[in-house]
Amino acid sequence: MTHYDSFAMVDWSGGNDTGPRPCKDAIWLGLVRGGHVVPPVYLRNRSAAETAIAELIEEELHAGRRLCIGFDFPFGYPAGFAKALTGLADPFAVWEWLEDRIDDQPKSNNRFDVAGQINALFAGIGPFWFNGLRRDIPNLPRKDTRTNRDFPERRLAEDRAKGAFTCWQLGGAGAVGGQVLMGLPVLSRLRRRFAGKIAVWPFEPLDRPVSFVEIWPGLIKGPVKRAEAKGGIRDAHQVGLLALALSRLQRDGLSSMLKVDAPEEGWIMGLGHEDKLNEVLRDVGDAPLTPPPLRDDCFALPAGVDWTPVDDALALLRDRLRPVVGQSDLPLTQALGRVVAKPVVAHRANPPQPNTAVDGYGFAHASLGEGDQSLPLVEGRAAAGASFDAEVPAGHAIRILTGAALPVGVDTVILQEDVTLGGNQVAFRGGMRKGANTRKAGEDVNAGDVVAGAGRVVTPADLALLSAVGVEHVTTYEPLKVAIVSTGDELREPGQTVRDGQIYDANRPMLAGIVQQMGYDVVDLGIQPDDRETLRAAFDDAAARADVILTSGGASAGDEDHVSALLNEAGAMTQWRIALKPGRPLALGVWHGTPVFGLPGNPVAALVCTLIFAAPAMRLMSGAGWHRPQGFDVPAGFEKAKKPGRREYLRARIRDGKAEVFASEGSGRISGLSWAEGLVELAEPAATIQPGDPVRFIPYASFF
Ligand code: AMP
Ligand code: MG
Repeated sequence: MTHYDSFAMVDWSGGNDTGPRPCKDAIWLGLVRGGHVVPPVYLRNRSAAETAIAELIEEELHAGRRLCIGFDFPFGYPAGFAKALTGLADPFAVWEWLEDRIDDQPKSNNRFDVAGQINALFAGIGPFWFNGLRRDIPNLPRKDTRTNRDFPERRLAEDRAKGAFTCWQLGGAGAVGGQVLMGLPVLSRLRRRFAGKIAVWPFEPLDRPVSFVEIWPGLIKGPVKRAEAKGGIRDAHQVGLLALALSRLQRDGLSSMLKVDAPEEGWIMGLGHEDKLNEVLRDVGDAPLTPPPLRDDCFALPAGVDWTPVDDALALLRDRLRPVVGQSDLPLTQALGRVVAKPVVAHRANPPQPNTAVDGYGFAHASLGEGDQSLPLVEGRAAAGASFDAEVPAGHAIRILTGAALPVGVDTVILQEDVTLGGNQVAFRGGMRKGANTRKAGEDVNAGDVVAGAGRVVTPADLALLSAVGVEHVTTYEPLKVAIVSTGDELREPGQTVRDGQIYDANRPMLAGIVQQMGYDVVDLGIQPDDRETLRAAFDDAAARADVILTSGGASAGDEDHVSALLNEAGAMTQWRIALKPGRPLALGVWHGTPVFGLPGNPVAALVCTLIFAAPAMRLMSGAGWHRPQGFDVPAGFEKAKKPGRREYLRARIRDGKAEVFASEGSGRISGLSWAEGLVELAEPAATIQPGDPVRFIPYASFF
């Protein structure tokens, strides 16, 4: 799995120095580092660009960051050209051939002359054409009068990229041929200067800290247009947005984009993946951008901290974490369980008009006199969805059914059970209150009221409310992606054969269940052996595909505890010694910007740590805000002498109004987890609990 910390995208130029003022047709460099957008840099000429890029490479190498740099010109020529020019079917041979011959000064360069020299080597006219200079250049036609047919006109990539220009055309609006001639020598020099550190895609495996990739800004259109509409220079937007898109897409892995077979011609990164590139930038120009990932040391404990009380650990999580997911507009029908990202406002009041709460007879309260009443009925009736459009005259009544809008002239309704009918009259007792049995417009919700705040997890009842006030779309957070890994050589899946000493994986299905119930997406990374390198690859994969990683097992400091060893190695590890039972060991770290909860292997401790720490942390990252589980004080149905110093959680359930606890506190007793319906929480101080004493019971479901 290829992972980068930084993406730099360069919009190249084949022309001369463009002066000190930022303008188009110069060189622009866009950078996204650790998910953060760095403002694009203007580079007036190639020499300035070469220096800036070399400095960037130095900086990233020095900081230990992996860097992907994109250049918007072909890295190779159509098939056959390299061999014909240099004798080798090797794109780097062309790079070096050009490096030896291209003379590049800020105000002038010899690209047209070199193209002419190349043309001279081949029969007929071509393959290069377009002389942009006033003077004639031997062998370089001004117009496309070529007769040489030694090479394909386009690379395979250009057949696919609608609107891409060929390498042979050296000038004219949009042409790229000059940039190739002027760009490859620069790449060749950088490649030699940072020998062994740069891998060029797709010619070399990407196993070095810096990758050069070919890009084409034409792949992202809508987002650039939207950004441009707000001002700024198109080229600058293009490089910044492409860097952002690749940085965001690497969550789902860039490997499908990087898998191409183009050993000589090269390929455009992202070609064929335009939908994904544009989709991941859909918020550009309107909604806020996805927040940057976490700092790698965000879980560091303050110096000198030894045993951390549970509440301190929670406060630290609350402080260091924040929403990490993007947003999207969803039809209301798909919003159940999603987190509201922008406050939802009622489009219409509920009820929209005054209406009747009962079946009966409506009239104006002012029509009533003293004592018993008898009112003539008007012709017709008012029903829900079939209103009575005329006015009900004073001194008259009308038949009206539940939910019907009150006709003009009606403000009070008498229940049908309380009247006598006869001779087209309705008779009833006096003493009615004005407005009886009616509902006022907006008495429930007024148009413009907030009906669901940001952070709300949409419930079925919310769907009723939002629908009632005419809400059709809701801006929600994308579901958090949670990678789940079980670690241990002893673990097998149900259905697999087991030897002595092996056990079935209990934690992964449990963790996946919690994640699903919380409404998040599970990224299942299976069972991983106690092997550092395999686990490292799994972490890389997980960090690229998920927002948070839950592992279980291997979190202590023992020989086979590779989770803690790896997080340690990443320099971002905190072995939290939390004053919690059951709960040890919990390792917290950040792997390539993705938080990792290294949960204990024991299923009981794994569940408790997940409910107490991982669940509120995930909620916060999902955009739903911080959550304290709701507990209830109930009489204990057990006795216990609790030691001081640690908070304890007992597997418990409520029967006959009392909290029962599971007979054994053994942390391998999975049956007790299933027996229980929640946890009893015992605070840190020592306590002697007698039957009937109040204890705090927290249902499992209250934790998320
Ligand atoms: P560890 O933290 O890796 O030392 O594991 C502690 C205990 O939990 C050992 O007895 C493991 O076999 C057990 N264990 C670890 N992972 C799982 C799992 N996924 N399912 C069931 N038991 C596990
Ligand atoms: Mg283990």
